[in-house]
Amino acid sequence: MKIHEYQGKEILRQFGVPVPRGIPAFTVQEAVEAAQKLGGPVWVVKAQIHAGGRGKGGGVKLARSMDDVKTLSEQILGMQLVTHQTGPAGQKVRRLYIEEGADIKNELYVSLVTDRGTQKVAFIASSEGGMDIEEVAHSTPEKIITEMIDPLVGLTAEQSKKIAAAIGLTGASIDQAVDLFAKLYKCYMDTDASLVEINPLNCDSKGNLIALDAKFNFDANALFRHPEIVAYRDLDEEDPAEVEASKFDLAYISLDGNIGCLVNGAGLAMSTMDTIKLFGGEPANFLDVGGGATAEKVTEAFKIMLKNPEVKGILVNIFGGIMKCDTIAEGVITACKAVNLSVPLVVRMKGTNEELGKKMLAESGLPIIAADTMAEAATKIVAAVK
Ligand code: ADP
Ligand code: MG
Repeated sequence: MKIHEYQGKEILRQFGVPVPRGIPAFTVQEAVEAAQKLGGPVWVVKAQIHAGGRGKGGGVKLARSMDDVKTLSEQILGMQLVTHQTGPAGQKVRRLYIEEGADIKNELYVSLVTDRGTQKVAFIASSEGGMDIEEVAHSTPEKIITEMIDPLVGLTAEQSKKIAAAIGLTGASIDQAVDLFAKLYKCYMDTDASLVEINPLNCDSKGNLIALDAKFNFDANALFRHPEIVAYRDLDEEDPAEVEASKFDLAYISLDGNIGCLVNGAGLAMSTMDTIKLFGGEPANFLDVGGGATAEKVTEAFKIMLKNPEVKGILVNIFGGIMKCDTIAEGVITACKAVNLSVPLVVRMKGTNEELGKKMLAESGLPIIAADTMAEAATKIVAAVK
């Protein structure tokens, strides 16, 4: 789960990580009031969307007067902000963050991210933070350093000193960094984050460190123990189909292709998408209906897939383990009738009560294309959508 920058900064503040003073605003009027409350002489008007690269896309602007604050807020609020992370359609700006302008000297980069390979936390840092970090990573990767943190030991002061020196900090700034990094690490751990990224971490002309941006991702499987983070959820920033699917406990991710996939089990869903691609097709979604799929759940899954106008065919691939094939067959038949299915449907099922399930599909009178193997299923659906 992602949150907005201003919410991230609220969390950082609670953990003692220094951030500028700022106030969120939902209207231009609120933005002007926020600026008045903060006091000048310089403010930053910042678009709040769940994507990075806002500065380059025109979503972060410096204001030197109250008139500036008003004009810039009018410009940014409601704009369709396009960044390298939003895709070409962009994202509508519905919230602003008005922040006091910082004295920028050195823009540094720090982030913490879960590294599955080593089962550790990677602390990634660079002296070359700011809006071109992707370019730094691409052309001068040696300027980005990584320190692995053993979660059983935690981040040590020695590691922090090493990182601070590596990104060019000196003197009292190093002590500040050691303190700040420890707080950042505690924040990352205590909130069950999978990513905390501060870009830029500003080192001002006096050598003081302050976080000017905050990006958080949280482990969805740990959200049950963080109601305070769930409260930050902004459904406007999420894919409507994915939000709808989550209401029915369906694991659904929108993709760019035209073959809808309905599968039980995440692993089987992944290999189904791979097989579709292997046979020249493109999946329109990832969809795991889970182990306890009822006819109702399958119907909702069909409805969600078919809301996507790109979908030209559906592949159902089911392994009947705990879930029996006849139950799924019943769900598929009910769903096809309920949604008046008008695109080709290929069904492959294996496992418990397979024969019964196949018989039910065959006798349903619906134009369902049966397949026995994954290769056959993929070949048939790819041919059907062509
Ligand atoms: P994004 O990463 O989405 O582009 P940032 O919050 O990093 O958004 O802002 C982009 C740039 O704007 C920063 O790299 C920094 O140079 C500048 N900036 C952001 N916040 C402030 C602030 N409070 N004061 C001064 N400059 C800022
Ligand atoms: Mg940034």
